[in-house]
Amino acid sequence: DPRIHGIKTRIRVVPDFPKPGIMFQDITTLLLDPKAFKDTVDLFVERYKGKDISVVAGIEARGFIFGPPIALAIGAKFVPLRKPRKLPGKVISEEYVLEYGTDCLEMHVGAVDPGDRALVVDDLIATGGTLCAAMKLLERVGAEVVECACVIELPDLKGRERLNGKPLYILVESH
Ligand code: IMP
Repeated sequence: DPRIHGIKTRIRVVPDFPKPGIMFQDITTLLLDPKAFKDTVDLFVERYKGKDISVVAGIEARGFIFGPPIALAIGAKFVPLRKPRKLPGKVISEEYVLEYGTDCLEMHVGAVDPGDRALVVDDLIATGGTLCAAMKLLERVGAEVVECACVIELPDLKGRERLNGKPLYILVESH
């Protein structure tokens, strides 16, 4: 798709952020280009429209940028999956392992129902730990995760292998 090239060129790579040796993929520069931002959302919407997705679950923080416009366009509800102690209601939590230590995602109880068909959205998959925790939250309440969708994949980190065969759709690979 010719739109992919434009998207790729607008993702900025920032060396040594947030620490030495990390090549940070920065999507804020993509958001500055309305055509490239719209193309990004449109590509996801074209893929998921008519697929009977009832919930788009966006992962804090950058899943909150791409998830809501997709949800609105396909007629699904949007559910934020947040870092600990941000959601005011009753939550379920899923811990996951990072390079150093652990992190956690939380989801409001009652936001997702048994039988909901879910799309999980984030900006980027690295090791896959974050998407894996997100899928567990949704599956614990009886939802079916149809697919995960990210703008960027770092394929060298083999995060796909942690998704237990769940399909992952991405727009851009970065090595
Ligand atoms: P994973 O759990 O190792 O797959 O890491 C993915 C999570 O870390 C996502 O929520 C991303 O937003 C974030 N992340 C990791 N590396 C980058 C990066 O280079 N740019 C933007 N986000 C990143």
